[in-house]
Amino acid sequence: MPDQRTISVLGLGAMGRALAMTALHGGHRVRVWNRTGGKDIELVAAGADRAATPADAAADADLVIACLLDHASVQAVLEPIAATLSHTALVDLTSTTPEEARQLADWARGHDIAHLDGGIMAVPDMIGGPAAAILYSGDAGTFATARPVLDLFGSAEYLGADPGLAAAHDFALLAAMYAMFAGFAQGAAMLRSAGVSATDFAERAVPWLTAMTRSLPGQALLVDSGDYRTDVQNLHFNKAALDAIVRSAREAETTADVLRPVKALVDEQVADGHGELAFARIVEGLRP
Ligand code: NDP
Repeated sequence: MPDQRTISVLGLGAMGRALAMTALHGGHRVRVWNRTGGKDIELVAAGADRAATPADAAADADLVIACLLDHASVQAVLEPIAATLSHTALVDLTSTTPEEARQLADWARGHDIAHLDGGIMAVPDMIGGPAAAILYSGDAGTFATARPVLDLFGSAEYLGADPGLAAAHDFALLAAMYAMFAGFAQGAAMLRSAGVSATDFAERAVPWLTAMTRSLPGQALLVDSGDYRTDVQNLHFNKAALDAIVRSAREAETTADVLRPVKALVDEQVADGHGELAFARIVEGLRP
């Protein structure tokens, strides 16, 4: 293989294993390390080299990929091997906050380690498939050099030199996802008391939510312009709708815990005199 590289994967949870296996299938030499033994059996059977320590895994690797639980575990694993990592390229695919990514980048710079942060927009089963996307930010040179490997995992997009950018996008997307999942749970709870299964609800929710996502670019224009004037469904309308949905939740003998913060944001806008404006104005209520 003309461009075979030595890839070190630190952390063999579900995601680290998927990344390591994909790199192996891509024809690279893969060295793997995990804190607890036994997670590398399939990988070793498929041709990966088991490393006894993180330093053994990282030594002379072309690319070191960290995929650990959180920022604290990344620090715990990487800090003792700073000298080994010096002059190598480090891609941290652990989910961290933007500030944590910047801290790791500063630490890496201080040890001559080229650092790229990544936010994985996929679950392990998706890695290596067409639906997986990974967002990157940090050292542009590392992104360019590592690209043939990164492209194996999923579509790779470089967002910029600020190491926190990938994490900022990652967590913004996850915030939207969790709010949607919680909304589904709220609706499922309300329908359950009417004897409707969550499975039936899901069949209706998928096309409905898919159709509703088409309004996001229009809402984005309002947010970006700061001009929230609208001819349709202003905040007065949405307040009446949310009040009725909360009453409906009560009738269904469920709490409205998922809806309450949304209703509070809408109520606040209306109380502040913005009832004629669009729902998207609640974003102003999320400012510090
Ligand atoms: P897992 O919980 O399956 O694995 C966590 C890994 O971190 C294990 O290898 C674990 O080692 C290791 N670890 C935890 N604490 C320490 C520590 N103090 N020192 C050394 N190693 C430690 O998580 P995933 O593999 O699923 O996720 C890994 C990262 O990928 C996370 O940041 C996650 O947010 C991100 N991610 C995961 C997605 C998913 O769907 N799974 C989706 C997108 C991102 P041990 O086996 O010894 O416990």
